[in-house]
Amino acid sequence: MDKKNKISCSCGSCQLFLNDPLPKYSVMCACEDCRQALRWAEINGGKKPKDILYSVYLRSDIQSYNGIENMIATQLRGDASSTRIYCKNCFSCFAVDHVNYQNNVFMIQPDYCKQNFNLQIPPLAVLNLQDYPGEFAELESDTIPVFHSRKYPQERKRFLSIEPISEYLTPPKIPAKGTTIREIISKIGKIRVLDLIRGDNLEELENE
Ligand SMILES: [Zn+2]
Ligand SMILES: [Zn+2]
Repeated sequence: MDKKNKISCSCGSCQLFLNDPLPKYSVMCACEDCRQALRWAEINGGKKPKDILYSVYLRSDIQSYNGIENMIATQLRGDASSTRIYCKNCFSCFAVDHVNYQNNVFMIQPDYCKQNFNLQIPPLAVLNLQDYPGEFAELESDTIPVFHSRKYPQERKRFLSIEPISEYLTPPKIPAKGTTIREIISKIGKIRVLDLIRGDNLEELENE
């Protein structure tokens, strides 16, 4: 029987096997960068981005991996804080690193890659609603904390006060037993900077 710890792209040529497949927390993200990154992937053959994305955090501790030669690491712009790993064949995005994750966790959006284990846990917050493209976002819960941005110190404080988020946005107390997501990114080699204009939904790239 397969161990329940596998994340892969949709064509199967990239695979990560985790040492700790237990999701640490999840959020719903409406930011324009997540959408733009998936939109870029969609143009290349990936899946169409939703307006709000279920995003889940896992320990940056990878037991083994396959298909590093099929992985590409990208950033949206030269000043980006996030690095996203895609399959260069099917353009699934199966791992996202951000400077704030401190190599303790990495993020995945389960709708945009494959997993052989359960990653559904109740989201703790809805983030970046200022970027939501519609008029009013229908949220599944009317008690979940919402954040229009995290630009202001009181917003960041409120976000970090939600247990257990701050615990995972600090350097890990227990070091990874396996390979970290940042080690995977450095093994991929060069990070491709896409130089996309912030907030552009890339309509014009469609016909190129
Ligand atoms: Zn693939
Ligand atoms: Zn986002």
